[in-house]
Amino acid sequence: MLCYVAPLLGLLVLLQLQPEAAALQAPLRRIAIVGAGAGGLTLANALRKLDTGVDEVEVFERSVSNLQPGTGGGIQINSGASILRLLGFGDELDASAQRITRVLTRAASGRVLLDLDVLEAAERRRNSGQFAASDLKFYAIMRDRLQQMLLAQLPDGCLQLGKEVTNLEQTDKGVSLRFRDGSASQRPYDMVVGADGIAGAVKAAVSGTETPAVDSGLRIQLGVGAGNRPSGADSELHQWFGGNTYALTATYGGIGGKSEMIAIVYQDRKPMGENIGWQTADVTQDAVTRLEERCFPQEVVNVAKGCDRFFQVGVRYRNPLTKWSSTDGRMVLLGDSAHAMPPTLGQGANQAIQDAYCLAERLQALKRGDYGSVREAVRSYEATRKPLVASLLAKSVFLGGVETLDGPVGAFVRDNFFSVMGTVGVAEKIFVDGGVPRV
Ligand SMILES: Cc1cc2nc3c(=O)[nH]c(=O)nc-3n(C[C@H](O)[C@H](O)[C@H](O)COP(=O)(O)OP(=O)(O)OC[C@H]3O[C@@H](n4cnc5c(N)ncnc54)[C@H](O)[C@@H]3O)c2cc1C
Repeated sequence: MLCYVAPLLGLLVLLQLQPEAAALQAPLRRIAIVGAGAGGLTLANALRKLDTGVDEVEVFERSVSNLQPGTGGGIQINSGASILRLLGFGDELDASAQRITRVLTRAASGRVLLDLDVLEAAERRRNSGQFAASDLKFYAIMRDRLQQMLLAQLPDGCLQLGKEVTNLEQTDKGVSLRFRDGSASQRPYDMVVGADGIAGAVKAAVSGTETPAVDSGLRIQLGVGAGNRPSGADSELHQWFGGNTYALTATYGGIGGKSEMIAIVYQDRKPMGENIGWQTADVTQDAVTRLEERCFPQEVVNVAKGCDRFFQVGVRYRNPLTKWSSTDGRMVLLGDSAHAMPPTLGQGANQAIQDAYCLAERLQALKRGDYGSVREAVRSYEATRKPLVASLLAKSVFLGGVETLDGPVGAFVRDNFFSVMGTVGVAEKIFVDGGVPRV
């Protein structure tokens, strides 16, 4: 009797699995992206520009103001810039972002700890054949400029603002979304990508539980203005150390001209609660006092005084070695939602852009028949990106700790650390490596 029942049961199981297996192998046509940051908007462009077979891309963004001109700070992009060039944004980057050609690191006393000629460093690496002939470029760009650039090549209606995803529901027909305003998606999506930053609504759905981000103890005050910049060319990025504080000043290409920015990083173990985020908060006086008390040169204090908006954020990060996708690969994470890292290496957005390209490229390969299922394609994306971002995250956490060391011994260790890293070429290697995309 058993010899009849067993094959019958097997057949029933197969019939049960069949529709799902078929759906998973079918080309993906409809994809929803949650979050319109650098990662989400790059993915929307990449899905349309590569031959992925995806013909409907919708981006849902909870904020109505994050994409307005005049919001947010500036970021340095390098490896992300190479990816954006692949996607056809090279001319716009050259026209609107500020090229970085020198990184000058000094103690507040004026002692030079590291002086990196970026162009020469890139040329040295190129000549040693360490990366293919990509023209490596380092830029500083305002966040709003980058987002507007990425948005401009998406069709009208692709981005929906004020749509906060609160819930994801998966059936064998796809993934459906629910929004804070009470609405829901009309039809399920073949795939939902969580590019929703550290807040992580999609992360919770992928992991099946809330996974809180880790507070690094680092705090950043970030000022933006059109006013003062320290001596030196616009293409110079200056880093300063004084007391337990690190400050970076640079010029960023933006909408309607250049902006000056200062980022002041320090340690504070008092719990900060939620990030204030990118809304304007007036912390100018606190920032100026911090710099003056730690004897930063007047040219640095003047940058802070010349800012017309200041933000304050607490730096948190995510363990990158947890799940980035649901078992069948239909819910996937990228960027900060998968691996938020301290910004001390200036790599978070660069990595989000690379994640986006890598995922789109794997979906193109899926359409070509290189993978047997969505899950395989998504696994390949994860296997490529996870070790890279895990290593960057570890370096960023370490660097944040060194940059904000306190007391005379701390300052001695920090200053000599940067000086030695410069002398033996490690700083140059880390910086130039950050410019090489790995997708
Ligand atoms: C001070 C500072 C300086 C930095 N400097 C650099 C730098 O120089 N170079 C660099 O590469 N990186 C830098 N970073 C890191 C970089 O900003 C982030 O890594 C990058 O923005 C991550 O991009 P993302 O697209 O993954 O997420 P985000 O940019 O965080 O975008 C996520 C989007 O999703 C939206 N969202 C969230 N939840 C939901 C939801 N439930 N429904 C719908 N929408 C939602 C958010 O409103 C947001 O617009 C810096 C970060 C900070 C704080």
